Amino acid sequence: MSPFEYRRAAQVADAVAALRENPEARLLAGGQSLLAAMKLGLSAPPVLIDLGRVAELRSLRADGDGLWIGAMCTHAAVAAAPLVRERLPGLAALAGGIADAQVRQRGTLGGSLANADPAACWPAGVLAAGATLVTDRREIAADDFFTGLFATALEPDEVLVGARFASRQALHYAKEEQPASRFALAGVAVARQAGGAVRVAVTGLGQGVCRWAEAESRLAQRFAPEALDGLRPDAGIAHGDLHASADYRCHLAGVLARRAVRRFGGAAA
Ligand SMILES: Cc1cc2nc3c(=O)[nH]c(=O)nc-3n(C[C@H](O)[C@H](O)[C@H](O)COP(=O)(O)OP(=O)(O)OC[C@H]3O[C@@H](n4cnc5c(N)ncnc54)[C@H](O)[C@@H]3O)c2cc1C
Repeated sequence: MSPFEYRRAAQVADAVAALRENPEARLLAGGQSLLAAMKLGLSAPPVLIDLGRVAELRSLRADGDGLWIGAMCTHAAVAAAPLVRERLPGLAALAGGIADAQVRQRGTLGGSLANADPAACWPAGVLAAGATLVTDRREIAADDFFTGLFATALEPDEVLVGARFASRQALHYAKEEQPASRFALAGVAVARQAGGAVRVAVTGLGQGVCRWAEAESRLAQRFAPEALDGLRPDAGIAHGDLHASADYRCHLAGVLARRAVRRFGGAAA
């Protein structure tokens, strides 16, 4: 690993100032992706700005009848939070299903979203829920946040502060794990708004998280697993690798979408 300077931010403004001072600097959340990339020599930031002591980024609270989850909330904290389990239990389940206990204790919502790994779970949950991502300077709709493979709308000096979720919806997520890393070979999040609108987001296909319009329109007409029978994403948006072919990933996405809808139980009728 190349040598680097370690700095601790006490407030979000400190982190923004440090990023402006050194455009090659990187924010450090739980280090679950960044430190691994540095050890492999894929990333060599001269300065790391640790967000671990920025209290406001760890806030998890009610936001009206919805939820606010700070960027530095760990997956384990979200999974265990009574408020999340009560208002959006499917989101708590998504967080509790990420990787293993060690990763869940360190990995964060903000790190996962900023990293935008194409096999990550949080991007699917956030996109299906239609969450609002709040940064130090603006609000970004989830639809506008993810811009491709490991790419987001964040500016180089921008800090993600947290995410706002409306609670007048239910959400469920189903994934098939890649057995070695436990990332998603494919994962599908389905959210149903109180008014009946449906949003479906797919992760793991290889090009970054995306919405699945045809699944949404079928479920809007009839919210039942059978409404998705025979449906799978277009293979053109999927990539194969040593773990699974593009064709298999698309097949999985169809299966997982039906599984996610089944998790709504009676509400799926
Ligand atoms: C073995 C393993 C298995 C995993 N399995 C899964 C899985 O099944 N599903 C899943 O969703 N994820 C999985 N992950 C990813 C994990 O959940 C972490 O969320 C992810 O690695 C990001 O880690 P982190 O939060 O520690 O962020 P870091 O690694 O510290 O940072 C990641 C990137 O985000 C930037 N960043 C961090 N915080 C902010 C912020 N507030 N504002 C702007 N930029 C920021 C950093 O500068 C860096 O570029 C896995 C990781 C590992 C190591």
